[in-house]
Amino acid sequence: MKLLQIKGDKMINVTLIGTGGMIPLPGRYLASCHIEYNGRAILIDCGEGTQISLHKGKLSLNKIDTILITHCHADHVTGLPGLLLTIGNHGRTEPLNIIAPRGSTKILNSLLVVCGFLPYEVRIAELHDTKPQEFNQIGLKITSIPLKHHINCLGYSLELNLRPHFRPETAKELNIPVKLWRLLHNGEDVVVDNKTITPNMVLGNPRSPIKISYVTDTRPVKLIDEIVKNSDLFICEGMYGDDEQLSGAVEKMHMIFSEAAKIALNSNVKELWLTHFSPSMPSPGDYLEAAASIFQNTVIGRDLMSKTLKSK
Ligand SMILES: [Zn+2]
Ligand SMILES: [Zn+2]
Repeated sequence: MKLLQIKGDKMINVTLIGTGGMIPLPGRYLASCHIEYNGRAILIDCGEGTQISLHKGKLSLNKIDTILITHCHADHVTGLPGLLLTIGNHGRTEPLNIIAPRGSTKILNSLLVVCGFLPYEVRIAELHDTKPQEFNQIGLKITSIPLKHHINCLGYSLELNLRPHFRPETAKELNIPVKLWRLLHNGEDVVVDNKTITPNMVLGNPRSPIKISYVTDTRPVKLIDEIVKNSDLFICEGMYGDDEQLSGAVEKMHMIFSEAAKIALNSNVKELWLTHFSPSMPSPGDYLEAAASIFQNTVIGRDLMSKTLKSK
């Protein structure tokens, strides 16, 4: 058991809560994604139907610490008042953070007037809309991605940095008592028999983080490629499947499947999940090939599709 803890296996659960854009359809609620790590959760966007889908997926509302908002279009925020009221009914008293692009506070506060009294504090913070910002929530490092849409809009990359593995064999060879192993794994020096042992003497190679990126609503911009680089999971809008709908996508500031796939390819991500489908496309799977011919590991998102990303 001790060895397992020292090894520090970590996991993040990602669940698509709603995969619709603009208008909800039966079985397809509006934009939202749930990311859980170490017993706490971040919700990205909160379109209409979010709380119903969370309930259906048996995802606890009490775990939600922070709600990241991409932008204040109705299909991304109108689920907020109902969700916050239900969270209040569940007895929450701890503050809840809402983080959104510049200019969102006024809009969100107007929306939340209908909540009346909430038994906890809602803290709204704004991020730059033109340059990326880094911050930490629930133990994950988050980087915002300024996007190109009709209003200020941000994507988000979430990373779990992993400490190098501890090498018990080396620690034993150096006669380091087991009770000091954790200190070394946490990056502290220890002294054994008047000799200083530094962490690099007993730790393995650096490890790449577990990385999840979420991008909607936008046209493709260079910054997306840079920030989502090497993501284990890249969740991206695919408003329309057919390449022939490109001009409509340009006009409405959205992306078609092949554009999302090109970003996935250029950014060297491991897996692409498409989401935020137009209501004019009831069966997005019909267009899978438009993306998969460019980036093979493409999956058509659906409500409550879920994946556990584990550290290696
Ligand atoms: Zn949208
Ligand atoms: Zn939008």
